Amino acid sequence: LGDSLQGALRKLIGAGRIDENIVNEVVKDIQRALLTSDVNVKMVMEMSKRIKERSLKEAPAKGSDPREHVVKIVYEEMVAIMGQGANIELKPQTIMMVGLQGSGKTTSVAKLARFFQKKGLKVAVIGADNFRPGAYQQLKTLSEKLNIFFYGEENEKDAVGIVNRGMKEIEKYDVKIIDTAGRHALEADLIAEMEAINEAAKPDQKFLVLDAAIGQLAGQQAKAFNDAVGVTGIIITKLDGTAKGGGALSAVSETGAPIAFIGTGETPDAFEKFDTDRFISRLLGMGDLQSLLEKVQESMKETELDVDNIMKGKFTLNDMYAQLEAMNKMGPLKQVMSMLPLGSMGLGGAKLSDKDLDATSEKMKYYKVIMDSMTAAERDDPKIISAGRISRISMGSGRSSEEIRELLKYHKTMQNAFKNFAGKGGGRNMQKMMK
Ligand code: GDP
Ligand code: MG
Repeated sequence: LGDSLQGALRKLIGAGRIDENIVNEVVKDIQRALLTSDVNVKMVMEMSKRIKERSLKEAPAKGSDPREHVVKIVYEEMVAIMGQGANIELKPQTIMMVGLQGSGKTTSVAKLARFFQKKGLKVAVIGADNFRPGAYQQLKTLSEKLNIFFYGEENEKDAVGIVNRGMKEIEKYDVKIIDTAGRHALEADLIAEMEAINEAAKPDQKFLVLDAAIGQLAGQQAKAFNDAVGVTGIIITKLDGTAKGGGALSAVSETGAPIAFIGTGETPDAFEKFDTDRFISRLLGMGDLQSLLEKVQESMKETELDVDNIMKGKFTLNDMYAQLEAMNKMGPLKQVMSMLPLGSMGLGGAKLSDKDLDATSEKMKYYKVIMDSMTAAERDDPKIISAGRISRISMGSGRSSEEIRELLKYHKTMQNAFKNFAGKGGGRNMQKMMK
């Protein structure tokens, strides 16, 4: 999946103009990615139709080239479905969680509580799951660890009663969060219970909690809960796993409610406000698509990175120099690397530690100084750089021979990475698309 989409991205980066074949090919790749990410089939089909039409019909915005044009449209179409995420107000409010058993409600109650607590609000939770044995203890323990006030009644069967008494008990708190029970499947008694709790507590927010792996069932579930209580926001959990959470798009379109938060782990801090761009990139199997593209293209314009040669496996010091220039314009290396899709071009920065990247950024500065002291011939063919030449370059640049050797080694590594990439067909595709 990731590979095919990265292939598509490369096609777009390499493509000089947009014709129907290119659009069709890219749309096909995008369809595949979205379907693998569990986005509803009908949605994918409708969206690709619009992307095709718009890409061919609309004129590229002033100053943007045709390839940016298609990516921009893909992005806009996704945003049109997903919206920009919920606006979470930091004020006193009551929140009710709904969702099936195991979706991550109780965990998300703790995460939400922590979120508001960190913003300085006084938070209390009510454990109204009297269905699953152990639910009382689970939330009690989680709350105690976080210093969150917990109200619950062990062994009480009447969930609405718990909520009524609990709401009185926690009246003075700013943010009140109600955990509810789920079932393994949508059942009438669950829906009735949600309706009754909704009536009793009159929550301001009703968050539907969905497991990222929910897939095609998301729409149906969202509809049932929405009909019962009126869902106001969606939380997607377990996005730290392999599931991409594409089902959530159906939930959004079914309820009209925005995605509010995502869960990225089991601990109370593994929780983030929803970020549309990042989510889209993830669905498409790319890194930080939009911003990366913008920056890459911006910087490519002004440097003479010889993509043709690089993709043939030839990567000279001139190319490296241009690349460093490009990176300088793109911002700190750390940031650039983090945007690259994992492993793309064999340079994926994701595996490098922060420390490595910081060190590299530092080095980049003197690498350029060193390269400035080289002759054009040396930059074009570093193999000719003998020990004698290293001494000369060292004198000229004021950097040690050691550092120059290190640069040459770094260059070799990069060159091999590109060779690898070219060997795997990436280069050929890119060249083909550039014609
Ligand atoms: P509930 O039945 O809806 O209340 O679900 P729980 O909150 O009890 O969560 C069910 C399981 O999913 C538990 O083992 C949680 O630790 C786990 N879980 C919940 N949210 C996440 C998440 O974002 N990431 C991961 N990896 N696990 C999660
Ligand atoms: Mg629970």
